[in-house]
Amino acid sequence: VGLETDDPVIYRAEVTPERPAVYDVATGRTLNYGTLDLAVARAAYRLLEILGNRPAMQRIAILGRNSIEQITVCLACQRAGLVFVPLNWRLGAAELGQIIADCEPSLLLHDAEFAPVLAEISEAMPRTIAVEGEGGWAELVATAPRAEPASVDADAPCIMLYTSGTTGSPKGVIITRRNAFASAVNFSLVGEVTSHSVTLCDLPFFHTIGLVAIGRTTLMMGGRLVISDRFMPDRTLSVLGDPALGITHYFAVPQMAAALRNAPAWDPKALKALQAIFIGGAPLSPALIETFLEDGIPLVNGYGMSEAGTTIHVPLDRDAVARHPGSVGYPAPLLAVRLVGDDGQDVPDGEVGEIWVKGPSVTPGYWNNPGETARAFVGEWYRTGDLGRRGEGGVIYVPDRLKDMYISGGENVFPAEIEAVIGAHPKVRDVAVLGLPDPKWGECGVAFIVAQADLPSADEILAHCAHRLASYKRPARIVFLDQIPRTASGKAQKHILRQAHANS
Ligand code: ATP
Ligand code: MG
Repeated sequence: VGLETDDPVIYRAEVTPERPAVYDVATGRTLNYGTLDLAVARAAYRLLEILGNRPAMQRIAILGRNSIEQITVCLACQRAGLVFVPLNWRLGAAELGQIIADCEPSLLLHDAEFAPVLAEISEAMPRTIAVEGEGGWAELVATAPRAEPASVDADAPCIMLYTSGTTGSPKGVIITRRNAFASAVNFSLVGEVTSHSVTLCDLPFFHTIGLVAIGRTTLMMGGRLVISDRFMPDRTLSVLGDPALGITHYFAVPQMAAALRNAPAWDPKALKALQAIFIGGAPLSPALIETFLEDGIPLVNGYGMSEAGTTIHVPLDRDAVARHPGSVGYPAPLLAVRLVGDDGQDVPDGEVGEIWVKGPSVTPGYWNNPGETARAFVGEWYRTGDLGRRGEGGVIYVPDRLKDMYISGGENVFPAEIEAVIGAHPKVRDVAVLGLPDPKWGECGVAFIVAQADLPSADEILAHCAHRLASYKRPARIVFLDQIPRTASGKAQKHILRQAHANS
């Protein structure tokens, strides 16, 4: 009578059907594990019916804000042996069109608010169904019978996530059932997610941290997942401070954390149940960690990526956050990690090498992209394209991406370090640093700065850097811009800046 399942909900629906599973802040809806399981089984039935029970591995795309429906469809895809592809709703019609053409979904579900952008797409479109409204997906599912779980092998894909597009066009990362399960196990261990955890996710589900990590992990562990359809500092703070919910885990990218800390409603005393704010997706500045620590709230700097099933490193030991500010801690238990030098050998402790990973949560490769897949793998090892350094106590630091590091006068420079220094200047709103060719030094740093209303001079910025950075790290040039191109998760798209400023 064993269940023999990797489905995050089937087990919990069997043993704790009455426990609350998901709560949607925007609609006030709640499902317990029993009703969530029923919703998933019904959605799986409709998906198979619409696809005419065609062979497995069909892609189901969704363009929608975080909602119970979206989680349900994600789990229903796995249950039906289909592949769930959440699309980034911050993209424009042209970018979305490219992704849709690349993944060729059989069906596209969408929120009503995204109908106009879909109408603008010039590429061939699959069948689309709005989630809400008459004849919409929600209505179709409500009246469906239950589907039996498809028996699919562990190496079958169940999710495909497009990368953020920070370094170029987004790539489709294939996530198998084994990857998804291993990711949730890793995340529960490093994040200490248990059946008593209440997690809040207002990061968009189309990022690996959303559905692959927070969503699945919370449900697999039998905790309570609180979802919100958008990040707004005041709303987030009121949800975090709501004693009836008792949020224990919150997840954010660095800019969201900074926005919370600067919001007028910020009151750390109200966040009683909160164990930590988990940060990931981009470099976290030590200054921000410090401000939060002063308020008694640890910012846990997690390092990960879509290709590795979210988590690679996390400072599990909360004290490590204070002892090793800026470090990303220790590798997740199911992963093997190497730091590899140019010669393909492991670098000694203290030196910087590329981070390579291997393990059950690591993707088998990119969808429809054998070239990128071949470039990314050396045997079973996945080359992350990120740099790492092993510091005191074995904790890892991620100084920057390999692509972004530059060499000035023979010295390696990590733009993220310079960005943290310049970004801490009160008159700077945003900053990105690039290494550009320089006749004397080989490469030199150029700082692109978006100023606050109170405009700083270039000299002021340079004087600020002079006290804090070695001379070879100081930017040779400062360019003021109105805006820095950033991805949905707030990462600077340096390839765009580089192209625009290559000859200036
Ligand atoms: P693309 O692959 O399309 O260029 P992306 O790499 O930004 O986009 P994601 O998978 O969303 O796509 O992000 C993973 C990347 O984010 C990592 O490879 C790393 O460069 C960066 N990152 C994640 N967490 C951290 C962290 N804690 N510190 C520094 N960098 C981080
Ligand atoms: Mg990447």
